[in-house]
Amino acid sequence: MKKITLKLLALFFPIQLLLIYILKQNPFWVEEFYSRKVFLFVSQVQHYLTSWIPFSIGDLFYSALVLIILFWIINLFRRKPTSNYRTGRFRKLRTRFLEAVAFLSLLYFLFHLFWGFNYYRLPLHQSLGISTYYTKEELHEFACDLIQKTNTLHSELVSHDSLKVEFEFTQNQLQQSVFEAYKRSENEDLQMPYRVENVKKSLFSLPLSYAGFSGYVNPFTNEAQYNYKIPKYKLPTTIAHEIGHQLGFSKENEANFIAAIITMEDENQFLRYSGLTFSLKYSLNDMYRKDPLLSEALIEELNPGVMKNYKEVQEFWQAYSGPVELIMETVYGNYLKVNNQPQGIESYNYVVALLVNYYQQKQTVKH
Ligand SMILES: [Zn+2]
Repeated sequence: MKKITLKLLALFFPIQLLLIYILKQNPFWVEEFYSRKVFLFVSQVQHYLTSWIPFSIGDLFYSALVLIILFWIINLFRRKPTSNYRTGRFRKLRTRFLEAVAFLSLLYFLFHLFWGFNYYRLPLHQSLGISTYYTKEELHEFACDLIQKTNTLHSELVSHDSLKVEFEFTQNQLQQSVFEAYKRSENEDLQMPYRVENVKKSLFSLPLSYAGFSGYVNPFTNEAQYNYKIPKYKLPTTIAHEIGHQLGFSKENEANFIAAIITMEDENQFLRYSGLTFSLKYSLNDMYRKDPLLSEALIEELNPGVMKNYKEVQEFWQAYSGPVELIMETVYGNYLKVNNQPQGIESYNYVVALLVNYYQQKQTVKH
């Protein structure tokens, strides 16, 4: 690349940081102009380009990126004989540094243009016009409602309450059910603009299992990838979560809330089971922080078979747990902090605030 282009790109980096700083103060602008206009157009183009390809183009892009960076680093240490070794080396380092900043600047720009600005949109509770405040009593009432619904549904799906629910579907069938749920969703508050099916199995599912990840959206291609090794019972909420990201809800807790609503309100019993137990897990964890004894008493009320579904997921992650997971938690926690989610991975109980308040306004979960 020409040096002038590199210099301009590098110079653009601090300008972008300033722009993001300004946007952070103005979530209304981001919501109006980016999330509801520019992003919708850009993501349509991305889906048009990548949805028909059966494997993840984004994963190939990431692999290429890693290779490019590796070659670049190797090249950095390779010595070339020059007439004046010191000046030559200094010049080379300067060019390399310029290249690195320019490259980062370009990636940073594309990341934000294609998806990342959504991190600065209006918080979902504001768009929905609901509060984030809730008392322990309100949480208790919500959790009891979920437990009752979960137990009833569980009894309909199994012959004995000590059995876990078996998801005897292929991954593609479950994927299809989630697409259908989004298509069917009549939720007027969320108005999920369902467009193109663009969900794929991740090429990196094994390393993802060790890293503790169920899925991710590639912001450069807007493809959603899921870890196909996770238990099938977890697939509906995982895929629904990734589609939530694809639709422009970048924040973890907001994508979780959307996944919960889409699955819990669907007519498919298996999706509903996945969604109810998903919301219940967050509610019980939150209750545990507020009142451990009450939380344990609530867990006692659950059918033993439901606990077996939870256990299956826990055992899956335990089998892959280790140092990689810890490192990834730190890395991802920092990524969230950089991207406007200051509580990092801890920010997950915002989803409980959204669920409790949303269903208080709606009276109850639909089914
Ligand atoms: Zn996510």
